[in-house]
Amino acid sequence: MRSFVRALRPAVRRSQAVSAPRIQRGTQAGFPALQCGRPFSTTHTRRDASLADVAPTPITHFSEVETAMAETVQKFANDVILPKVRDMDEAEQMDPAVVEQLFEQGLMGVEIPEEYGGAGMNFTAAIVGIEELARVDPSVSVMVDVHNTLVNTAVLKWGSEALKKKYLPRLATNTVGSFCLSEPVSGSDAFALATKATETESGFKISGGKMWITNSMEAEFFIVFANLDPSKGYRGITAFIMEKGMKGLSIAKKEKKLGIKASSTCVLNFDDVEVPKENLLGEKGQGYKYAISLLNEGRIGIGAQMTGLALGAWENAVKYAWNDRKQFGKLVGEFQGMQHQIAQSYTEIAAARALVYNAAHKKEAGEDFVMDAAMAKLYASQVAGRVSSLAVEWMGGMGFVREGLAEKFFRDSKIGAIYEGTSNIQLNTIAKLLQKQYTV
Ligand SMILES: Cc1cc2nc3c(=O)[nH]c(=O)nc-3n(C[C@H](O)[C@H](O)[C@H](O)COP(=O)(O)OP(=O)(O)OC[C@H]3O[C@@H](n4cnc5c(N)ncnc54)[C@H](O)[C@@H]3O)c2cc1C
Repeated sequence: MRSFVRALRPAVRRSQAVSAPRIQRGTQAGFPALQCGRPFSTTHTRRDASLADVAPTPITHFSEVETAMAETVQKFANDVILPKVRDMDEAEQMDPAVVEQLFEQGLMGVEIPEEYGGAGMNFTAAIVGIEELARVDPSVSVMVDVHNTLVNTAVLKWGSEALKKKYLPRLATNTVGSFCLSEPVSGSDAFALATKATETESGFKISGGKMWITNSMEAEFFIVFANLDPSKGYRGITAFIMEKGMKGLSIAKKEKKLGIKASSTCVLNFDDVEVPKENLLGEKGQGYKYAISLLNEGRIGIGAQMTGLALGAWENAVKYAWNDRKQFGKLVGEFQGMQHQIAQSYTEIAAARALVYNAAHKKEAGEDFVMDAAMAKLYASQVAGRVSSLAVEWMGGMGFVREGLAEKFFRDSKIGAIYEGTSNIQLNTIAKLLQKQYTV
């Protein structure tokens, strides 16, 4: 399949040429939106209006590049990933050929600038890709999500020029990355982590371990958070880069899971891993700030994964109810009781998407998006759970058996309420920010 990145480079350059007016504060206008052949897009293109005159654009309108991303990833997911989804889930393993294709398509370096071998696109383009992948396989989607929104972003934001030159071309073309924060003792309370770093002559020595690390089976690059000065509490937390093969780093147990089974989730052990000086990421003691900032962005990605999942589950079931299954002499999707549930579910997916893309556009506009990201992740994961559950019911016995994908979408949906901050943690964030706003 032709490389997506190369095909889109001229459009990316065109969109970068108009990037300044797009990020004006307080407007989501200025997106040279094309009519998109996807669900939810019902309005027309306005290519040639002067940017200054453009009226506010619907939240879910995409730029030319984002539209091309959606269409290309949709085709890639259906042609290349869909035939493998069931087998990868049963084997609880990502097919290496899929990973290779993700790199080939440029989906592992969406925001990495061209000078480092990436696609040089924007954050929303990454979100669009994550959503489209989840419509077919949420496991593949989370691999791309973690790699792009957490790992690549960390290097782009805080890596020295030497680290960027060394690692970004690899992250864009052949090296999977992991984001290693959680530990047995620290999940929601992430900054209670116990992994320790000590300074040595040549760099740092890291001991401890991590738990539930996505991509860790395939990864060769790890962003690891460890405490360099426990006397300072969370202000001692520092970010480091580890590579597979460093002495003392071992990928231990691979978890068996309820859902997203093809996505690897492992325990990592650090037995005095020697990390060279230059692999310090950013500044000492700033790790907690980096983790918070990354997770705030990452939550928009998980929101997109969940809206993609919900839409995939919905489409899979309505195809059956409106085309295949007849009872009482009628297609089951013609009964009003079914139609109301179908309509309600689609409305909820549309609402979740609006939250996700609003958060993405606010981030791109340089506005404060923390509460928006928390609301998007919270609501999208709730919708994914509700819709994928109903979708199983709409298909009756066929939804429950492992022949189709309905039961898989349902199992996969549960993780949305857990990783990158549980639903309670999102509610805490939303409530805290609201209270601040409304306390006189
Ligand atoms: C499949 C999978 C992949 C993951 N991938 C990664 C990864 O790549 N990198 C990484 O670092 N981590 C990863 N994680 C870890 C994940 O982020 C944590 O599981 C998550 O943050 C929750 O932590 P916990 O499991 O320890 O739950 P706990 O923190 O023990 O929470 C248990 C319950 O208590 C509630 N709770 C806790 N504190 C509060 C509070 N203050 N207020 C209200 N309720 C509260 C929670 O909402 C939850 O319902 C992954 C986890 C899974 C399952």
